[in-house]
Order: sequence, then structure tokens, then C-alpha cells
Amino acid sequence: MKCMICKHGETKQGITTVTLEKASSTIVFKEVPAQICDNCGEKYIDDSTTKELLNKARKIVKNGVEVDIRKYAIAA
Ligand SMILES: [Zn+2]
Repeated sequence: MKCMICKHGETKQGITTVTLEKASSTIVFKEVPAQICDNCGEKYIDDSTTKELLNKARKIVKNGVEVDIRKYAIAA
């Protein structure tokens, strides 16, 4: 799709790193699938992936972890 930020680039399937901060926890997900603009680098993560990230983050926060870095695909 066309990038909504710079309006010039085209987005391509790729992977990115997403950092979520919840209460006192910081959770870093690596290798999250995303559409990435080839011009400005803006990342677009679709709704189902975002939902999944928030779900996983909630579980991690519940375990009382302060800093957690994991790959998206194998995150609990
Ligand atoms: Zn762009």
C-alpha cells in the first residue's frame, strides 16, 4: 500500500521491533511482522498483530516482569 505519512513510499512486508511500556514493565517484541515504508521507514502493524501484542504484554505484566525481550512468534 501507499505510505500515509510521506505519501511517496510503498510499504513492503518486513519485520520490526515493538516496545510496549505498561505500568512498571517494559516489554520488547522482536521480529514483529509489519508493513514498512521503503521511503520514510514508517511501520504499519495490522490490528490483529497489535491485539496479539497487547494480549502477550498483559500476560507478561501479570508475571511481574520489569524488562522482557522476546521474539514475537514464540512469545507466550
Ligand atoms: Zn513513508
